[in-house]
Amino acid sequence: TRIIASESAPEDEAVDRAIRPRQLSDYVGQEVVREQLGIFIDAARGRKEALDHVLVFGPPGLGKTTLAHIIANELGVNLRQTSGPVIDRPGDLAALLTNLEEGDVLFVDEIHRLSPVVEEVLYPAMEDCKIDILVGEGPAARSIKLDLPPFTLVGATTRAGLLTSPLRDRFGIVQRLEYYSVSELTQIVSRSARLLALDIDDTGSLEIARRARGTPRIANRLLRRVRDYAEVKADGHISQEVAAAAMTMLAVDDNGFDQQDQRLLLAVIDKFDGGPVGIESLAAAIGEERGTIEDVIEPYLIQQGFLQRTPRGRMATRGAYQHFKRPPPPRLED
Ligand code: ADP
Repeated sequence: TRIIASESAPEDEAVDRAIRPRQLSDYVGQEVVREQLGIFIDAARGRKEALDHVLVFGPPGLGKTTLAHIIANELGVNLRQTSGPVIDRPGDLAALLTNLEEGDVLFVDEIHRLSPVVEEVLYPAMEDCKIDILVGEGPAARSIKLDLPPFTLVGATTRAGLLTSPLRDRFGIVQRLEYYSVSELTQIVSRSARLLALDIDDTGSLEIARRARGTPRIANRLLRRVRDYAEVKADGHISQEVAAAAMTMLAVDDNGFDQQDQRLLLAVIDKFDGGPVGIESLAAAIGEERGTIEDVIEPYLIQQGFLQRTPRGRMATRGAYQHFKRPPPPRLED
């Protein structure tokens, strides 16, 4: 698996528990989200009401799950966690909903992957705290209506555009997470290092932050790999030199690109003359799934200005040619 994969891996979990921020005040960056949610949470708490339903969207690893936990924690309620692809049948969702206590948070990760029949159950639940479920089968089947306690649904998705509009319209609060700046990631690395009792200096944190693709999960994972390197190859202290050497060993380059990013950019440049190339052709050329390219690989390349998404397909930018020390094609010369 990719060291800089932005999706969560099982090996991340134990460390995650130790370093995951628990309060809004520990959540680094995302000023707008923090300020708005802080106000909405205070208001809901003041009125002793459930918080409005919240949709959080943004690329993997930017802190959606963390935010859901913080919301529940700040509201002082329980959090129940599930994810779109795990809920097979309407009855599974009904069981989750009927077990909620007043004001609880139900966190549904990958909410865009709910099946349509399951999604139907959510609409009246979100709107009127009611569900309508079918019990039994065939001619004996009957529908029963149940009242639910007021609750808050927190939905997470990588892209808001993947949601059906009836679902999207039922969220009162919609928050978009942005990639983190290098200075915010430096704070995150320093904070994690402190909680894990690691010996790191500011230049070491900065070196890791620079290569973390704007993503806290990647920053934390790089930190763990750099720690291993520092323990074995140095005296355990993580300086800028040690961090840089560790990342060279991990094949993570100066821009935080790994071989997968490089393969994608080089395919656009070499196999498709810099583009435009359709997403399906690109996926076939590098042997990746379209969804992986769209959700995981390209958002960061686009945000950093190495790749452009145009109506006719993906195009390499001048920056991409420069990165690989290739002469840009005439269309990119000024
Ligand atoms: P997502 O659900 O968006 O994939 P997570 O919430 O699981 O991402 O976050 C991934 C990791 O990054 C967690 O270990 C968490 O500790 C860390 N993290 C995310 N956002 C922040 C933040 N704003 N400040 C500090 N750490 C963060």
